[in-house]
Amino acid sequence: MGKQEDFVLRALEERDVRFVRLWFTDVLGFLKSVAVAPAELEGAFAEGIGFDGSAIEGFARVYEADMLAKPDPSTFQILPWRGEGPSTARMFCDIEMPDGSASYADPRHVLKRTLSKAADKGFTFYTHPEIEFYLFKNPPEPGVEPVPVDRSGYFDHTAQSMGADFRREAITMLEAMGISVEFSHHEGGPGQQEIDLRYADALSTADNIMTFRTVIREVALSQGIWATFMPKPFTTHPGSGMHTHVSLFEGDRNAFFEAGAEYQLSKTGRQFIAGVLKHAPEISVVTNQWVNSYKRLMFGGEAPSYVCWGHNNRSAMIRVPMYKPNKGQSTRIELRTIDAACNPYMAFAVVLAAGMKGIEEDYPLPREAEDDVWSLTERERTSLGIEPLPKSLSEAIVVAERSELLAETLGEQVFDFFLRNKRSEWEDYRGQVSAHERDRMLPVV
Ligand code: GLN
Ligand code: MG
Ligand code: MG
Ligand code: MG
Repeated sequence: MGKQEDFVLRALEERDVRFVRLWFTDVLGFLKSVAVAPAELEGAFAEGIGFDGSAIEGFARVYEADMLAKPDPSTFQILPWRGEGPSTARMFCDIEMPDGSASYADPRHVLKRTLSKAADKGFTFYTHPEIEFYLFKNPPEPGVEPVPVDRSGYFDHTAQSMGADFRREAITMLEAMGISVEFSHHEGGPGQQEIDLRYADALSTADNIMTFRTVIREVALSQGIWATFMPKPFTTHPGSGMHTHVSLFEGDRNAFFEAGAEYQLSKTGRQFIAGVLKHAPEISVVTNQWVNSYKRLMFGGEAPSYVCWGHNNRSAMIRVPMYKPNKGQSTRIELRTIDAACNPYMAFAVVLAAGMKGIEEDYPLPREAEDDVWSLTERERTSLGIEPLPKSLSEAIVVAERSELLAETLGEQVFDFFLRNKRSEWEDYRGQVSAHERDRMLPVV
């Protein structure tokens, strides 16, 4: 038993923990949890806790269903919303096969494998997400348009606003779980909020996003309201994205920084951007995985629709922020496609794989977009070489099916399952006759 395991076993007694929830994530990004008694933990650390993988989305074929959840002691935290003494704790797990090998279907493993490939080249991957979400007055009801908790807008400070109280409680809870929050504010839509997590290595950030989504929902429920990360809940209000700032470090040196270079962006940084741009359409099915995701990526609203980059250009898919004259270690790029309803492990894995490809194959960086790309005509965009992102889940699936990068990064099992699942989501949607169609057609046809 290692030091961290010992620490956890001691903490179980000291904090009077009665239940330990073992957390992991299915391929679609939903949190799974099994609660075990503290007495089981020593065994769980040594051998894992067995469960039936075939019952989890994307995990196993029926004939190889037995899997083991092995808790990662470095992720031990008390769940603040469950109260203290007796208390409830959680740990994220790695999923293993009965022979002790890592499960090829575990999204956390997909990310770990991609991180270790980058580590072989000397790089650590850091991410910093800006997570947007809406707060509604009531739980969702089929066919009923949700009512936001307020009518405020971007950065609004309103006396006694529901959103501010909500953010304060949510942030207190996140901090209690060791998740540092950097900024929070009201976003552009009514009831829309944003909370930005401090940058950390991508595995910690992905774990933190899973925790974040749970905390936000718990706090909302405790206040009698409803939180959603749905990418585009309203036609006429902005969607919720998860802009992610990313950087690579070589040891303790930011590999994207070069003093004196344009935007202080090193060759590695430029190659990384080029890689993410080139592979953006094929990884889109992962960064934007729902039918609804593609309704966010249109109409402007500061959500990108085209494959391009720019410095301080909020219509671009990748923005190179220039907040400080001398950025040094904080040099990074902001990827604006990802939405908060993704599987963060898989999304970070495919972004890193795309960026690493740009570095390995020395992709040239296209010219930056200087204009608001939404206001250009189709012809102007074509002449500038600016391609559109997939316009629907269906288009995203078609490019993804041919993607070697995606198959390699996700692994065969996740790649096959995921695309099968997405095709069926699209088919379900395609067959739905909507209110929009009836409203348009019945009066005239
Ligand atoms: N809500 C916008 C999006 O969907 C982003 C708005 C902003 O943070 N500037 O990407
Ligand atoms: Mg922001
Ligand atoms: Mg925002
Ligand atoms: Mg942003």
